[in-house]
Amino acid sequence: MSVLTTQGEHIHVWELKAHIDGCHSWESFYTCRCGAKRSVGGERSGDANDFSSVFWMTDSDCERCQDLLSGAQPKSWDEISCA
Ligand SMILES: [Zn+2]
Ligand SMILES: [Zn+2]
Repeated sequence: MSVLTTQGEHIHVWELKAHIDGCHSWESFYTCRCGAKRSVGGERSGDANDFSSVFWMTDSDCERCQDLLSGAQPKSWDEISCA
């Protein structure tokens, strides 16, 4: 059916459904027409040269922000869950 399906192998076509920015992390949610879901996200580095960190990490009440700002290793993920 799909022009993007070749030799029986389905190639996901990700459509952005939502993007969430938290104080020290961000996450984007995608879906494919086959029903699979994908979550891509990461934590901000806390690097003062990183514009997004300067912009978002202003909540001094957040422990994780403080950790990252003092050099903790930011996590990132890219997860696909099939229907
Ligand atoms: Zn798919
Ligand atoms: Zn935070």
